[in-house]
Amino acid sequence: MSAPATFPLVLSAASGTGKTTLARELRRRRPDVVFSVSATTRPPRAGEVDGRDYHFVSIDEFGRMIEAGEMIEWAEVHGNFYGTPWKNVRETRARGEYLLLDIDVQGARQVRGKVPEAVDVFILPPSGHDLARRLEARGTEAPEVLARRLRNARDEIRAAGEFRHVIVNDVLARAADELEKLLRGEGASVAPVPALEAEIDRLCTEIEAHLGTAAPDRG
Ligand code: ADP
Ligand code: 5GP
Repeated sequence: MSAPATFPLVLSAASGTGKTTLARELRRRRPDVVFSVSATTRPPRAGEVDGRDYHFVSIDEFGRMIEAGEMIEWAEVHGNFYGTPWKNVRETRARGEYLLLDIDVQGARQVRGKVPEAVDVFILPPSGHDLARRLEARGTEAPEVLARRLRNARDEIRAAGEFRHVIVNDVLARAADELEKLLRGEGASVAPVPALEAEIDRLCTEIEAHLGTAAPDRG
């Protein structure tokens, strides 16, 4: 008997939403979910391990991978390049695992075009204030980088309507339940479009209010 059909699960969110935390929780619950390790030109953060968190590569090597057709998708995000190797999809497909891609909205658009069975999910923060607080609490970015990420968040959140599913990461366990439902082929989490648009407008207004009170951006 052949293995059940799996699919790549694409998660996108504005930086700081809690996507990595949520992905780890899903992985804890479902060992058949495997993280897609991207290639990036970003320098490693403290504690990050090459080959586990990312393949940390030079700009030359990143360019070579694109030229050789090794990437499903790639994008420039916050001033660095990131891309997903095709190899990740091939290997997990062969093993009957779900590949979890933690990629930005530009990457999600490319995957949508190339891997039609992929299921894409946009994760929203419960509020603009929560998003700013989570970004600050993580404490991995300098203040000017933080402000840039928050500014970018407005544009990223505007893309939520393109995604098949939208999940609010308010309470981690609840949001993880929704992701688990998607793996079981249940759960139409898409909010009615007018409600989603109102939600997006509210979040963007809250982020702008926060940026208005934040230190001037030099990034
Ligand atoms: P992302 O990967 O989206 O950039 P992270 O997973 O690094 O975000 O989370 C950013 C911060 O928010 C972390 O400090 C994390 O512990 C916290 N966080 C994540 N999910 C939640 C949640 N549901 N409630 C409260 N805090 C959260
Ligand atoms: P970070 O620098 O915080 O690890 O990631 C920054 C952003 O890059 C996140 O939004 C993350 O989803 C995105 N990202 C990580 N890997 C990839 C990738 O392979 N492709 C694309 N398009 N985006 C990625």
